[in-house]
Amino acid sequence: MSIHQILQEVFGYGAFRGPQQAIIEHVVAGGDALVLMPTGGGKSLCYQIPAIAREQAGQGITVVISPLIALMHDQVGALHEAGVSAEFLNSTLSFEAASQVERRLLRGDITLLYAAPERVTNPRFLAQLDSLHERGKLSLFAIDEAHCVSQWGHDFRPEYRALTVLHERYGSVPRIALTATADALTRADIVERLQLQDARLFLSSFDRPNISYTIVEKTQATQQLLRFISQEHMGDAGIVYCQSRKRVEDIASLLCDEGIAALPYHAGLDAKVRQANQDQFLRSEGIVMVATIAFGMGIDKPDVRFVAHLDMPKNIEGYYQETGRAGRDGQSAQAWMCYGLQDVVNQRRMIDESPAGEEFKAGLRGKLDALLGLAEATDCRRVRLLHYFGEASQPCGNCDNCLHPPAVWDGTDAARKLLSTIYRVQQMGGSYGAVHIMDILRGKSTDKVTQRGHETLSTFGIGSAFSEVQLRGVLRQLIAIGAVAVDAQAFNTLQLTDASRAVLKGEVTVQLRASVSSPAERKAKRSGATHASSIGKAPIALDVPAQTRYTALKAWRGEVAKEHNLPAYVIFHDATLVAIAERAPLSLDDLQGISGIGAKKLEAYGEEVLRVMVSV
Ligand code: ADP
Ligand code: ZN
Repeated sequence: MSIHQILQEVFGYGAFRGPQQAIIEHVVAGGDALVLMPTGGGKSLCYQIPAIAREQAGQGITVVISPLIALMHDQVGALHEAGVSAEFLNSTLSFEAASQVERRLLRGDITLLYAAPERVTNPRFLAQLDSLHERGKLSLFAIDEAHCVSQWGHDFRPEYRALTVLHERYGSVPRIALTATADALTRADIVERLQLQDARLFLSSFDRPNISYTIVEKTQATQQLLRFISQEHMGDAGIVYCQSRKRVEDIASLLCDEGIAALPYHAGLDAKVRQANQDQFLRSEGIVMVATIAFGMGIDKPDVRFVAHLDMPKNIEGYYQETGRAGRDGQSAQAWMCYGLQDVVNQRRMIDESPAGEEFKAGLRGKLDALLGLAEATDCRRVRLLHYFGEASQPCGNCDNCLHPPAVWDGTDAARKLLSTIYRVQQMGGSYGAVHIMDILRGKSTDKVTQRGHETLSTFGIGSAFSEVQLRGVLRQLIAIGAVAVDAQAFNTLQLTDASRAVLKGEVTVQLRASVSSPAERKAKRSGATHASSIGKAPIALDVPAQTRYTALKAWRGEVAKEHNLPAYVIFHDATLVAIAERAPLSLDDLQGISGIGAKKLEAYGEEVLRVMVSV
């Protein structure tokens, strides 16, 4: 079969997306490739179609290296649904089950084998690959989530370093590495670690136009989150990221108390509970997963409608990867983050206190600064995000700053007053935290101020024209640009830095948001974008008979998914059900050509779908 036939008949899709075709042609012909594509871009087909084509040409098996043990079952299940011979090998299999897979592997019975990275250091597994290789039956290596090889990536997996064995031992076997992380540093690291210098680079646009970005100032984080979900996302599936395990637990139970179906996920939970919660998130509709960053890699649930960050991530790669889990189905979705002074202080402290070398820490600080720049931005968030990944773009019209341009005020004068105050108290021989510095600036004669004689400072009260909120904004921005350091070793006292000088001299201006409108106001002003909210509602408007068919199809799909122990979207996507409901097919011919219905699915489910059609 040609690659177009495979796309059509196996996967049921009419056309390749973006660079898929070029990538697939290159790999089918035996070339090495490094594929950088955003989440939801369609990376899987880039190695699945070559695997099928090369197997059909007698070249043998494709080994997919993936760190996602908990998801391999579903990934392989999805291929089975499409009629592709696939298996996985990882620590969750019993000895007997693994032995059976190994026997089939050696017989050349499998087209795609998913394996955890630790396998490639396992002599027994390597001996099996050797045997296949000698017989010319080792066709391709696909290295999924390739950023895991890099220490700069946010989920570095030491086992990935062992993947060098693939080219050292099987130099003639083509390799395709794929990732959704694309900053230059990580990319260079992947190339070097996996020795992909000669591989062709396929770099897609990283834009996710259907995701709307919003970053709000943290006032009462949990209340803000509650408002966001209850006003905009009741009944939707979503992910809420928090910094700590305790916070995950607290927020999950708070959401449940408010009638929002939420589950916790973090590395401290028993593995069984974790897996059960993940399964429930994937298999049921409208669940909110409250999680640490331990959750989400490889989660291919297409209908996640929002990703919320209650605490700030470490860098833009992390933020983009996490928010990228929203809206894989291309329907509108939201990325929401709330952040405040404490986030900035915490993240800086974590870097300062880490045992890493100075050079490495400088790298981390640079990455944090870029994220702070994004959070403080008063212009288009998407332009900033894409710029970070080396892409130029125009204001998007689909982020908070584009939809509701914030009023800005020039905070340069306030910034200089704040820095002078830090300078003066230091000259008097002390270092103080944010509260005390603000008190001096605003002219408050607290006990601490009078005891230390700080009301005699020339800066006492010179900031009384500014509100506390304004001054906090100024301070946050100064910390963000590195013009103030927070000394974690000394009670979070504020220190001047080399960068303070430029601000003091007036060489750097400080632009700040004048005020933050409340989520309720935003909601009222929100333009256009609507999405499916309540369970059972189709993602696009259907007329009444079609809606009835859609509801019936959904119920039928739910039963099939349960029987097969797979998430519903593996059987058919919502979009495929909508297309069926609209077409109201009466014969198998009518079903043919609907996106998402390949030959195997038509054969397996065609008749049942037609029965559902006549039953409503
Ligand atoms: P990624 O791994 O890049 O995040 P996936 O491979 O999971 O993305 O693909 C995202 C979704 O897009 C999947 O549901 C997939 O079936 C669908 N998809 C991929 N390629 C195509 C295509 N050419 N036409 C239609 N749908 C596609
Ligand atoms: Zn924008």
